[in-house]
Amino acid sequence: MALIVQKFGGTSVGSIERIQNVAKRCLAAQRAGNKVVVIVSAMSGETNRLLGLAHALTAVPNAREMDAIAATGEQVAAGLTALAIEAEGGRARSLLGHQVKVLTDGAFTKARIRTIDHSKIQATLEAGEIAVVAGFQGVDDDGNITTLGRGGSDTSAVAIAAAIGADACEIFTDVDGVYTTDPNICPSARKIDRISYEEMLELASLGAKVLQIRSVEIAMKYKVPVHVRSSFNETPGTWVTSEDKSLEDVVVAGVAYDKNDARVHLVGVLDKPGVVAEVFAAIAEKNVSVDMIIQNATSNSEGRADVTFTVSRTDLVRAKPFIEEVASKVGASAVKYDEDIVKVSIVGLGMRSHAGVAAKMFKLLADEGINIQAISTSEIKVSCIVHQKYTELAVRTLHDGFGLGKPVG
Ligand code: ASP
Ligand code: MG
Repeated sequence: MALIVQKFGGTSVGSIERIQNVAKRCLAAQRAGNKVVVIVSAMSGETNRLLGLAHALTAVPNAREMDAIAATGEQVAAGLTALAIEAEGGRARSLLGHQVKVLTDGAFTKARIRTIDHSKIQATLEAGEIAVVAGFQGVDDDGNITTLGRGGSDTSAVAIAAAIGADACEIFTDVDGVYTTDPNICPSARKIDRISYEEMLELASLGAKVLQIRSVEIAMKYKVPVHVRSSFNETPGTWVTSEDKSLEDVVVAGVAYDKNDARVHLVGVLDKPGVVAEVFAAIAEKNVSVDMIIQNATSNSEGRADVTFTVSRTDLVRAKPFIEEVASKVGASAVKYDEDIVKVSIVGLGMRSHAGVAAKMFKLLADEGINIQAISTSEIKVSCIVHQKYTELAVRTLHDGFGLGKPVG
């Protein structure tokens, strides 16, 4: 007998018919001899609809009330799923975040889980029932309803799996698993059978949107095996697990791209100690995170340097005024922005032990005439900024150039 957590995303519970399918699936798992905890998202489109209602009233809704509103989507889905299980002849009980309880900090709309008291879930399972838990929501110390950020039901599922010591956390979604790259822009993309937590974390933060990043962090910390799979068929999906020898041999596991970056170029700032410290302190103080940073001496201008960095496009509008303020303080002669860029990245554990991976990436891009504007690397990742018009070409070239298009034996 195993203890399993099954999480169903918005499309999987998007209609009464689909909820009935979910009910059948959980019951099949229970009848096969497992203890089953189900986590549900709101029905597809519901969270957007609810947040839209709040925004229709006021441009900047109070975050506490936003959470009170948004959390209802999961409440409805949990109740309906429990009913559907009963209608199929099973026994189930819905549990909301505050009933479980999932205790979070008080950061409304992006709360982080502190602890999970799993006694109600355990009691439900002991009674032979399926526990249907509303994802995405928690409660803070003062009893306020909180939510875990968009896509947060993944995090609810993995955190509950960790808390109850589940044997696996199945994430049911509308795709067959994690792909080597985005199949919408690269026809030869393949489903990955197994990937390490580290690689998944890099891919998720580089814009591959299958799992909320936080859920992968928790899975890695507590070693929860995660199985991302389709709710519409029985085909095995992608296992996200601890690394082992076979995963370490994979030089490049996936190619990701992210169009949410913008490049900022400070021309001719003073080249002396403390200048970049001042620039980036001013940016950090406003809670804008910076990704890549490049500094080089300005040609034919003694004692001056150019500083280039990237921020997320969503932050840029907000960031422009204080970037310009600090730029003039450090003597920049101009500030330039470029939003027509894309970050393409290759990710793989095998990079740790194979030399020349970055060089091969640069060569593949160069052979297609794609100019690289900035580069950053980590132990298992290389990212390049290129012009946005090359997005598809760059992704396909890297994907096929690193042999990801071919089935691996
Ligand atoms: N319903 C929430 C959202 O759309 C949480 C989730 O689906 O994971 O972000
Ligand atoms: Mg999701």
